[in-house]
Amino acid sequence: MVATLPDFAAWRLCGKLLFIPARHEQPPCFPQRRRVAKKEHAKSLGYTLLAILETHALASYDTLMKAIQVSRVGGPEVLTLVDLPIPTPKQNEAVVQIKAAGVNFIDVYFREGRYPASLPFINGQEAAGVVTATGAEVLNLKPGDRVAYSGSLGSYAEYASVPADRLVKIPDQLDFNLAAAAMLQGMTAHYLSHSTYPLQSGETALIHAAAGGVGQLLVQMAKKLGARVIATAGSTEKAQLARAAGADECIVYTEADFEAETRRLTDGKGVHVVYDGVGKDTFDRDLNVLRPRGYLVLFGGASGAVPPLDLIKLSQKGSLYITRPTLAHYIATREELEQRSNDVLQMIVTGELKLRIHGTYPLAKAQEAHRDLEGRKTSGKLLLIP
Ligand code: NDP
Repeated sequence: MVATLPDFAAWRLCGKLLFIPARHEQPPCFPQRRRVAKKEHAKSLGYTLLAILETHALASYDTLMKAIQVSRVGGPEVLTLVDLPIPTPKQNEAVVQIKAAGVNFIDVYFREGRYPASLPFINGQEAAGVVTATGAEVLNLKPGDRVAYSGSLGSYAEYASVPADRLVKIPDQLDFNLAAAAMLQGMTAHYLSHSTYPLQSGETALIHAAAGGVGQLLVQMAKKLGARVIATAGSTEKAQLARAAGADECIVYTEADFEAETRRLTDGKGVHVVYDGVGKDTFDRDLNVLRPRGYLVLFGGASGAVPPLDLIKLSQKGSLYITRPTLAHYIATREELEQRSNDVLQMIVTGELKLRIHGTYPLAKAQEAHRDLEGRKTSGKLLLIP
C-alpha cells in the first residue's frame, strides 16, 4: 500500500516536534549538571513523542485500503480509486484480504444505477482471499483461511467484510484467481442448467453469448448433462471458443439471423430451452425459436433491459414459460450455497469444467475492465487484482 498524504503530514509533524526540545537553547546561568539533565530530558521527550507519533502514523497507514468507489452512477468513469478505512467485522462477518475480485455484468448494472444501491458504494460482488479477522459470532472460520464468495457488495477493494455464512473454503488445489473466477459465473451456469431448467439428455438448448463468462461454463455443463447445444456468439473468433467449450453448432448472430438458423438446425421444431443473458436484442426472437411448452430463461440484459411483455404472447407462441431468475435465490440457504459451490469447485479441481480467464487487471484499472466487458471485447472471466 502506498503511504497517503495524511501519513506524510503526520511524519513531518513528528519530525518537527522531535527537534523542538533538541534545539531548545538552555539559559546560560544553568549549572553544567542541570544542563546535561535537561538535555537528556529533552532527548527522552523527543523519543517519546516520536514513538507516539510513529505509532499514530503507522496506525493510519495500516488502517487504510485502496478501493474502487462509486459516488454517482454513470459510465465506467465513475469508478474511482480511493483510500478508505479497512473494514472491521460485525459479529457475524469475516474480513477478507482480497487476492482476486471478479468483474461481472452485474457490476455494470450497479454502476449504471440499473440495480439501485445507496451511494457511495464499493462496486463488485465476488472475490477470493484470506480471512484476516472474524466477528464474535463466527465459529467456523479463522484468520488465515482461504475463502471465496459471491453476492456481497464491495469486492473491488483490498479488504471486504463479508457475512461469514456466505464464505466457502477454497480447495487446496485451486489458486485465488480460479476460485474468484468460479463463484458467480460458475454457480450461475450451474443453477441455470441444473435447477431453473434442469436439462435432460437429448434435449436441445440455445445458449446466447456462449463465448462469454457465463456462456462458456453453461455450454460445458449443458453438454455434460447430455444436451445438444446451439450457441450464438458475436464474432467468428468467439464462435470458435464456444465450439471449443463443446457447442454442437454456433451461429454468429451479428452476421446471421439466429431465429432462422435455429429453426433450420432443429428442422423447424425449435429448442426446448433458451438461456438468454443478452436480453433486449434477442428476447423477441427467442419466443419464435422455442417448441411448444418450451422455456425461456432470461437471466440478464447485456444489450439492455427487456421491455414489458403482453402475457398473451406466451399463449399465442405455444404455451411458453418464461422465468427471470437470479443467483441469490438459488444459493439462499447455507446448504444450497455449499452444495452448489462445492459441485462447481470440484468440477474445476477434476478438470471437468474449464475456466477461461480472459484477463487480469490491477485494481486501479477497473474502468478499463468495465470498458472491455461492455465493449464485447472479452471472452471469459475478468479479474481485478488489488
Ligand atoms: P459476458 O462475458 O457474457 O459478457 C457479455 C456478452 O454479452 C458480451 O461479451 C457479448 O457477447 C454479449 N452481448 C450481446 N450484446 C451485447 C451488447 N449490446 N453489449 C454488451 N454485450 C453484449 O458477461 P457475464 O458472463 O458476466 O454475464 C452474462 C450475462 O449473464 C449478463 O447479462 C449478466 O447480467 C448475466 N448474469 C446473470 C446472473 C443471474 O443470476 N441472473 C448471474 C450472472 C450473470 P457476444 O459478442 O458474443 O454477443
